[in-house]
Amino acid sequence: MSILRTVHLQPPQLSSEYIKEKIVCIRAHRERIFYVATQLYHGKLICHNYGQGGAGWTFLFGCVNESINQFEQQLSYKNKTICVIGAGCYGLLTAAILAYKGYEVRIVAQDCSNISSDKAAGFFFPRPRKTSTEYECEIFRSYGIQSYIAYLQIIKGIHPFISKGPKLLPAYFGLDIDPGFGPYIDRKIVKAPEHVTINFGNTKQYQAVEYQTVFINPSEIMAELRRVITELGVAITLQHITDFDELEEAVIFNCTGLGAKILADDKRIVPVQGHLITLKNQPPAEQRQYMINVKRVPDPQHNKPRDQLIYYAPKDEGILGITFIRGQDSLTANYHQFDEIIERAREYFGT
Ligand SMILES: Cc1cc2nc3c(=O)[nH]c(=O)nc-3n(C[C@H](O)[C@H](O)[C@H](O)COP(=O)(O)OP(=O)(O)OC[C@H]3O[C@@H](n4cnc5c(N)ncnc54)[C@H](O)[C@@H]3O)c2cc1C
Repeated sequence: MSILRTVHLQPPQLSSEYIKEKIVCIRAHRERIFYVATQLYHGKLICHNYGQGGAGWTFLFGCVNESINQFEQQLSYKNKTICVIGAGCYGLLTAAILAYKGYEVRIVAQDCSNISSDKAAGFFFPRPRKTSTEYECEIFRSYGIQSYIAYLQIIKGIHPFISKGPKLLPAYFGLDIDPGFGPYIDRKIVKAPEHVTINFGNTKQYQAVEYQTVFINPSEIMAELRRVITELGVAITLQHITDFDELEEAVIFNCTGLGAKILADDKRIVPVQGHLITLKNQPPAEQRQYMINVKRVPDPQHNKPRDQLIYYAPKDEGILGITFIRGQDSLTANYHQFDEIIERAREYFGT
């Protein structure tokens, strides 16, 4: 039997003085697949782009490119005025690309800060939904690969207007988790993974699958997108939209995330509540450049595997998670969820 390579990792510190903030936020998950499509509404062209759920950062560039392609194919709308609804990563990137291409565009949004796009962990996790059809899986593959290539361009310094945010890091997945990188490995944009032993320098060591992959760092890219929007002179108006007719523009990009459930009357949107914990006073950044995504061995008494995840990513001083609570759209935290995240992370990391 071959001996696995051992990787020595510095565990995060997790006692109370190292906990910065407890965060709750909601994913806009659309059953089977996100929605990137156009619709004519009272003479306006609506370009919908929402429903990416817990993988919105992963599919960002592929979905936004597709949405803009769909708009550009509608030749009779090419010279009309454009409004983007939403100032999350979808709204900002859509407006930035349109403005960069020379279109006149503005943004309206209910909120511009402290939204899901800022709070996300930053894993590139391209696996299609379990319920997706083969055609939908192909869309996940194609848009995901486009996104991955865009993140690699940023890392290499050759993206036209985003210059920082993502980086390539080792990500350690549990042996029972397939993050969906098969097609990326076939395309040779992700290296084949390696089965390794990870060792936290205490009594804790585990077998895991090591991928060298993109860590997105949502807060850094959001800062970049906000900078680009300002530099390109795109105005942002704070406004809650209840009907597309409230906007005077003939072309509207609907990047409202969870808001699309009501605005576009999309019954396939399901809110999925997530709890995350940010860390502070951690070891130096260069000692904690890795990601963890594993399931704790389920407790037979409380067999809820989706609630047993351990996420760690080096976003800012470190971020821990995570929960996936379907059907829950409240921004009021369930405090026991934070206690459980910390408890299982302490047990896993041995700190
Ligand atoms: C806990 C958590 C962890 C995550 N981790 C990851 C991860 O590791 N990897 C990954 O790929 N993805 C992750 N995601 C998913 C990702 O963050 C989202 O899919 C993505 O941010 C969605 O971006 P968005 O622009 O569509 O929506 P949002 O960021 O929610 O922005 C929506 C915008 O629309 C505006 N809006 C909504 N309704 C209206 C209205 N009626 N009128 C006007 N404005 C409106 C809002 O004010 C806001 O400006 C995570 C999400 C959560 C919640």
